[in-house]
Amino acid sequence: MKPMGPIPPEFAGQAGMLTIAGTRADDWLARHGSPLFVYDPAIVAARVARFRAAMPAAVDLHYAVKANPFPPMIAAVAPLVHGLDVASAGELAKALAVKPAAAISFAGPGKRDSELAAAIAAGATLNVESEGEARRAIAIGELAGIAPRLAVRVNPDLELRGSGMKMGGRASPFGVDAERVPALVKAIVAGGAVWRGFHIFAGSQALDADALTETQAATLALAARLADESGHAPPLVNLGGGFGVPYFSGDTAVDVERIGAALAERLAARAGVLADSAFAIELGRWLVAEAGVYLTRVVDRKESRGETFLVVDGGLHHQLAASGNFGTVVRRNYPLAVAGRMGAEATEEASVVGCLCTPLDRLGDKVMLPRAQEGEAIAVFLAGAYGLSASPAGFLGHPAPAEVVAGAG
Ligand SMILES: *Cc1c(COP(=O)(O)O)cnc(C)c1O
Repeated sequence: MKPMGPIPPEFAGQAGMLTIAGTRADDWLARHGSPLFVYDPAIVAARVARFRAAMPAAVDLHYAVKANPFPPMIAAVAPLVHGLDVASAGELAKALAVKPAAAISFAGPGKRDSELAAAIAAGATLNVESEGEARRAIAIGELAGIAPRLAVRVNPDLELRGSGMKMGGRASPFGVDAERVPALVKAIVAGGAVWRGFHIFAGSQALDADALTETQAATLALAARLADESGHAPPLVNLGGGFGVPYFSGDTAVDVERIGAALAERLAARAGVLADSAFAIELGRWLVAEAGVYLTRVVDRKESRGETFLVVDGGLHHQLAASGNFGTVVRRNYPLAVAGRMGAEATEEASVVGCLCTPLDRLGDKVMLPRAQEGEAIAVFLAGAYGLSASPAGFLGHPAPAEVVAGAG
């Protein structure tokens, strides 16, 4: 038997048939087919409310669209947050459908000229990732007769301790090395662009409030130093994000209140050069991961050499992260349940495997579950972020699953 991560609080106490946004899982499946992603925007709204109550009012909340770019989901999240952060022209177009350009910023390496032009024409902010990208953006703006809104993504000389994905403190394709930022800011201002400030993202999927607080403090200090050295105060300092969610056994939720209290103190004592700056935290998975459930039906129950396999009609082509093949070194189990037997005693050890012809396609490895029959649905929790859009949906040519946002038409 191997442990599973904790079922998110909104679903953990349920008994009998799983309900998502007040509707039974079997009703969702009857309406939309299996496999299926269901997202509950009320859970996102609860996360936003918690963030707002915990964080100083001066800190805006941005949604990192790549965590879940399903258009009805972006539309559900957009009114709850101050800004949308995008990472491609495709995401930019989706964001522009639901948010004014002034509230959209575009980060990410390798922005093509057509992407820079689309952002400049729309009036979105570009977080430039290199000197060359800044030069191209200014040239494109000149041709278009529009002053581009430019911020600098900084490759910080600091990293987020305990982060699932470290982004700082080393050579990186992301951002401009901190020591070269002041010269670039001067060039951006001299080039006639609208100076928008700094974007400093130090890591992702961190659960330790103290590590996050430490990183925020270092980020503020870095922003102040870069502002001093460049001679231009940043209108906005995007402090990054990195708030994680508990995916695995032993993980605990981020203590957002503790982070907010510490950040309020740091902001109150910030350097004079940042006195008039706005601040933002950009979050993806913390806002949406727990709002999503992936439902997939058992096609076959089989025994092999003493082990039980529940073969489902979904798999890693929809939910790569739960199979352990998206940025994790050691495979561990996401929380799973038999959707019709919530709260029932777990009486058998089984592995939940997908329908792809590869041993990588395992959604649950030797987990304890109530006995599930063929036709019953397995729920994979924490499927709201980096699910379908971060999975190799074309692999093996199975049909795409439906996605549905509860309450959205
Ligand atoms: C991916 C990304 C995010 C979102 O990360 P989460 O772990 O989903 O919160 C935020 N900022 C940048 C720059 C990113 O690339």
